[in-house]
Formats: sequence, C-alpha cells, structure tokens
Amino acid sequence: MTSAAARAEVVVDLDAIAANTAVLRERVGRPLMAVVKADGYGHGLLPAARAVLAGGADALGVAVLEEGLALRAAGITAPVLAWLHTPGTDYAAALTADIEVSVSAEWALEEVVAAARATGRTARVQLFADTGLSREGATPADWPSLVAAAARAEADGDISVVGLWSHMAYADAPTHPTIGSQVRVFDEAVTLARAAGLTDARRHLANSAATLALPDTWYDLVRPGVALYGLDPLGGDAATHGLRPAMTVRATVALTKRVPAGVGVSYGHTYVAETETTLALVPVGYADGVPRAAGNRAPVLAGGAQRRIAGRVCMDQFVLDVGDAAVRPGDEVVLWGAGDRGEPTAQAWADAVDTIHYELVTRIGGRFTRRYVGSAGAV
Ligand SMILES: *Cc1c(COP(=O)(O)O)cnc(C)c1O
Repeated sequence: MTSAAARAEVVVDLDAIAANTAVLRERVGRPLMAVVKADGYGHGLLPAARAVLAGGADALGVAVLEEGLALRAAGITAPVLAWLHTPGTDYAAALTADIEVSVSAEWALEEVVAAARATGRTARVQLFADTGLSREGATPADWPSLVAAAARAEADGDISVVGLWSHMAYADAPTHPTIGSQVRVFDEAVTLARAAGLTDARRHLANSAATLALPDTWYDLVRPGVALYGLDPLGGDAATHGLRPAMTVRATVALTKRVPAGVGVSYGHTYVAETETTLALVPVGYADGVPRAAGNRAPVLAGGAQRRIAGRVCMDQFVLDVGDAAVRPGDEVVLWGAGDRGEPTAQAWADAVDTIHYELVTRIGGRFTRRYVGSAGAV
C-alpha cells in the first residue's frame, strides 16, 4: 500500500497567492494593502501574509486587533492596519505592536489618545469615512468634528493620521450609481481633512472588485482581499484577470457500495437512485464547513467527472452517485479548486448553493487539515 491520502484537506497554493498579488500590484502601479483577515480568507493567516508579502504587498489589512497581534507575534514587520474595534479595545497593545488602527468615531479616538499617553507612543491612525455603505466609518454629518478632534490630537503629538479611507457598497457592479456618489463623498471627506491640516494621510477606497474594475477608486493605495486568493469578486472567471484560485478542497472516498434502483440516499431520502448504481461516501460534512445547502446541488469531481451531491449533506459526510464509474475507497474527490483539472471552482459552488465564494472559503475548516504547496513566503 502507498501511504494514505489525507481524509479531508484544504490544499493552499502559496505561489498562486504571491502571483495574484504581483498581478494586482502591477495592474494598479501603486502600493497595495493585502487583506488577510478571517484567517487569510480561510487560507491561513500567517502563510497567506507571508505569501502576499513575497508577491510584493506593501502592507497588510486585518479586521480585528487580535489578527494584527498574531501577525506581529509571528515576526511579520510590514505595516498592519486593523479596523474593527469595540469600546475597551486594548489600543495600548496595538501601539506597542506598531499596528495602525482605524477610527470611526470620536469616542474611539479618545480611547486611542488615552492609550498613546499611557504608552508614550504616537498612535498611527486611519480615519474611516462612511461614504455610503453604512457600516464602519463616520457619516458626513459626524466627519467634520471627528477630523477636528483628530487634528487636535495630532497637534498634541498623541496621534499621527496616516490614512483617510472608506469602503464601497457596490464595487462588484461597476456601473452602479452609488460608485460615483461614494467617490464624491470620499473626495469631500478628504478635502475637509486636508483643510483641517491632516495632509500626510494616504487615501484608499478600493477592495478587490474596485481594484479590478474601477481605476477612479485607486487613489494612493488599493486594498484587495479575495482577489489575492484567486477568486473573482465580480463572479466571473478569475483567469480573465490573470488570477489563479489558491485553494483546493479535497477528500478521500471512505466507502463505496453497489445499490439497486430505487434506493433512497441520506437523511430524508431526498435523492433516490434511478438505476442500479455505485454510491461513494465522502467523509466531510456541514461541521467541516460544507454547506448543508449543497445537498442535491453542488458539484464534486469524482471518478473523472463532476457529479452533484446525492441527497442531504450530513454533519460528517455526504454521498455521491457515481453511476458505473470505477470509484473505490481511497480515491480522491475534489469539492473545489482552480478548475483546470476538471474540478468545480468555488464560484461554481457559490452559484449552486446561492452564496458567494467568500463565504465558502472562509468557512471551510472543521476537521479538514491544511496543506501548503509552493514556496512563496515559506519560512
Ligand atoms: C474585507 C475588506 C476588504 C477586502 O474586500 P475584498 O472584497 O475581499 O477585496 C477591504 N476593505 C475592508 C474594509 C474590508 O472589510
């Protein structure tokens, strides 16, 4: 016997992440902040961070402070911005670790200033303008007073405002009217901030979709996430942008059996074999991040062809009807991957289960092991 293939693994191509980063940076011809939040979109925070840096990323972006601290604890020295904070956040830890923090409100600025005084450090702050997403950021009504407070704190030496930024609602629909309106609101916010004396801050607005499709939003820095991992935020074929999906989700067939026509498969018998056929048991389920909604919908490569999952996805396993194909225990099945070996893509899965590939790649986990291939950023 050869050594057994892993029961269930997520294979991450580090060279693809580095190459995707280089493609995007080349395209925009300006600095790039690589977003590695949510465990590097499910690809692994530290390997993803090292791979994007190997591909030329200038800075890293994360949602929460803990993610930034993990980057620093691993010895990563590139600039890091963390943007999603609650009251009482340990800003002193952020400052000590030289992590830039985003500020959306005056109360948060006060907490950052207090941390700066407590640590004797100057906080590097990025002011977040809500230009129409209605998520993080200060609204146009609240922006002038936030900017004024930030300018005072900068004059006092407590903070240095190094960024002015915002996030788009509709960048994946490149002709949507909100795009022009968000750009206008952002430009007004920048004008106000500069008039208040915050002249050193870099401006940034573009997520992946805007990095691919909206040059007017590139400003001083772009801030892509999902495209670094080779997924097209516009829902198309990533290869048209020169990007390659970095994640392959594979498993090993646990059991096969021949069954007669009329057999019901999995809970509730929502799938019934029409003819005598071979069923193959795949040992991954919704506890591992395979959406239950994939039952009878999502495609899987097995025995040289893509086949829809037969019946419901269970907690630990699902079943494929492979017909008369010679599939045996130990054979490989591929849920999604780059798409060039006959396997489905994460986009195909997203279409099948009515979600976005972002959700699929960030939620795959559970008992899947992760394996890295390629050398970009390897330590
Ligand atoms: C997640 C996120 C990004 C990256 O978005 P993608 O669509 O993955 O490129 C950029 N900016 C902010 C504020 C985000 O939350």
